[in-house]
Amino acid sequence: MNGKGKIMEIKSAGSSPSMKPPADYFTGAVRQDPLMEAPEPARMRATSVTFEPGARTAWHTHPLGQTLIVTSGRGLAQSWGSEIHEIRAGDTVWFAPGEKHWHGAAPDTALTHIAIHEALDGRHVDWMEQVSDAQYSGRA
Ligand code: MN
Repeated sequence: MNGKGKIMEIKSAGSSPSMKPPADYFTGAVRQDPLMEAPEPARMRATSVTFEPGARTAWHTHPLGQTLIVTSGRGLAQSWGSEIHEIRAGDTVWFAPGEKHWHGAAPDTALTHIAIHEALDGRHVDWMEQVSDAQYSGRA
């Protein structure tokens, strides 16, 4: 023990209320369950996000990038200018800082992932336009 550390903190399961994210930034039914917001100077945040079939984020970027760990189901993810990729439970996905992308459920299958990202000047995401039905289905 170096004298600077504090004792560990255990956040009990179910101690944070589930949240419904703003409809401006998502399509369909989405639930967010906050897992961790590390105290400064750490800046890591982790949230479990569940998308019902067809639900997805809007296009967005993360100033310091983002890791997704898919914990259940099957979904889709796409970076701007690239093809749509299928993601499944057990997969880990990395988006680079500033990489425009979206992620969500498959059309007929729900998806849950843990999203991990770091905040820069208090911001961890910059939202853009919605993912259209044509984009989501790969027709655009
Ligand atoms: Mn993202």
